[in-house]
Amino acid sequence: MITRTIATCQTQEWQKQLSEAFTSVKSLLEYLKIPKEQFPHWAQAEKDFPLRVPKAFADKMSAGDIHDPLLRQVLPIHEETIPVSGYTDDPLMERDANPTKGLLHKYRSRVLVILGSACAVHCRYCFRRHFPYQDNGLSQQEFNDIVQYVGRFPEVNEVILSGGDPLISSNSRLKRLIDALETLPHVSRIRFHTRTPVVLPDRIDADFISLVENTSLQVVMVLHCNHPQEIDPAFSQAMTHLKQAGVTLLNQSVLLKGVNDNAAVLTQLSEALFSAHILPYYLHLLDPVAGASHFDVEEPIGVSLINELLASLPGYLVPKLVREEANQPSKSPIPLVNESSNSL
Ligand SMILES: *Cc1c(COP(=O)(O)O)cnc(C)c1O
Ligand code: SF4
Repeated sequence: MITRTIATCQTQEWQKQLSEAFTSVKSLLEYLKIPKEQFPHWAQAEKDFPLRVPKAFADKMSAGDIHDPLLRQVLPIHEETIPVSGYTDDPLMERDANPTKGLLHKYRSRVLVILGSACAVHCRYCFRRHFPYQDNGLSQQEFNDIVQYVGRFPEVNEVILSGGDPLISSNSRLKRLIDALETLPHVSRIRFHTRTPVVLPDRIDADFISLVENTSLQVVMVLHCNHPQEIDPAFSQAMTHLKQAGVTLLNQSVLLKGVNDNAAVLTQLSEALFSAHILPYYLHLLDPVAGASHFDVEEPIGVSLINELLASLPGYLVPKLVREEANQPSKSPIPLVNESSNSL
């Protein structure tokens, strides 16, 4: 049954869906039957970072609901264009951390490879929103340089494909990189950081499954779901295929005001993830990126949400609350006991 579903899915089907994604506020709001007069000021925000939403993701939104938590993540709004002090274009100073094009080496045992800067969806809170999205992917030479760089660091045992979104790359491109990494004896794991299966579940096609099934590397996939409504049967089925192929499935979320800053929603998210064979990994505090301040949830609120989750979920369904800071040896864990909780 499952095999047949995969076999009949055409390899290029996801690319077609990607090319048909909504790319304007007008067309998305029309599709969702929301009068556009309710958003008078989006023009500049849309110009700064264009809208991009595959239909499969729009179909998970509630028609007519301007407050839909999925819509809020992708809709350009007026607040984005108001400068807020402390919010910058490159909060993580990543432009300084890449020794060779397309590679970030911030943490000791793992490197992050940016295969391309495109994504299947544009998330308004993303710290990459100011990066040059029109950049092309890596050339063959740049690709070789990356593999050579990793070869020089025996302590690197894991290569993380990120972006942009690595699953925008074709299966053949991914296979070339995996084949090259397999020749490095100290690399044992490959990890995908991706939101594509959430917004375009058909991306997990038969060729991709056979790619992850046949590599000698252990494969980890870190999904990016922020709200339980993002987990629907098509997504869950894709996750089942990956699990059957031996992939370890984890999820990272960003704590977002008006989307998931609520213990009931986060509890449902953890439960829904686990039903789809995924364990919660990180809950990130927002990076202070210009244009995203209206999504910010203050750290003490994040701490009290995690404490509520600890009281209602098994430990393995509670994500680690972290912040990403420049020049640190890892993500920074947020302590769960602080002065304000002592006084409660
Ligand atoms: C987040 C990140 C990683 C992965 O960190 P983990 O804690 O292993 O998930 C690796 N490199 C960079 C540059 C990162 O930003
Ligand atoms: S990198 Fe991730 S969070 Fe940022 S726009 Fe792409 S999919 Fe969204």
